[in-house]
Amino acid sequence: MSWFDWLSPKREPSSPLPWAQALAALPILQGLSVSEQQRLCELGAGLLAHKTLTQLGVALTPLQQAKLALQAVLPILHLGLDWYAGFHEIILIPEPVTRHDMVQDEFGLVSEVESVHAGESWQQGPLVLARSELAGDGGWDGYNLIIHELTHKLDMLGGEADGVPPMRPGMKMSEWRRDFQAAFDEQRVRAERNDAPIDPYAATHPAEFLAVTTELFFTDPRLLHDVYPAVYCQLTRFFEQDPLTRQPFTS
Ligand SMILES: [Zn+2]
Repeated sequence: MSWFDWLSPKREPSSPLPWAQALAALPILQGLSVSEQQRLCELGAGLLAHKTLTQLGVALTPLQQAKLALQAVLPILHLGLDWYAGFHEIILIPEPVTRHDMVQDEFGLVSEVESVHAGESWQQGPLVLARSELAGDGGWDGYNLIIHELTHKLDMLGGEADGVPPMRPGMKMSEWRRDFQAAFDEQRVRAERNDAPIDPYAATHPAEFLAVTTELFFTDPRLLHDVYPAVYCQLTRFFEQDPLTRQPFTS
């Protein structure tokens, strides 16, 4: 044994996760090519090797861990793990947290606001996910908590969460702002009329608009493409993916 072996902390060799089984259990990954699926598994393993997975009152099975990791790396399939440099820990909690915050309005009136948090993503902080909300993720239904929260992380790589992540090569921030602002404005007007074409939550803040449209991009691209085609186009350029070609037609 060398000095180096003495000094290096020993890592228990962990048994490989059931990646193939996890891939087969997640419909949104089925249209990927074999090489893309292979790359996704490598990135998923890399994510779990580099981020601490803290389980508070929950214990994910190896299959659940693999499913979590594969969905987490879907957005960065062509970007690489560096894009998740903004956090070091994923914390799983059993149920969404209900929080009571005191807020003050413009007239100085203080009131208590109750909000339910299924996931949270703070600048430089850990990613917090409620396991009960993850169970349904992975289908073509327009919702995905993991992708939603990780989109906030990508957004915050460019500073505050404002719906504008760092641009990829060849992209123009002015065009991104133009297309997202127009769609966000439309979403807000229609949400006020109770006629929002996508989840009204997207109208609450530009960062939530990006997170909700990115969820749709990966889990119901047809809807996003129909409603906000310019946003869909920007996201294809950012993620270098075109999920519309993967989404199966349903009757
Ligand atoms: Zn959000």
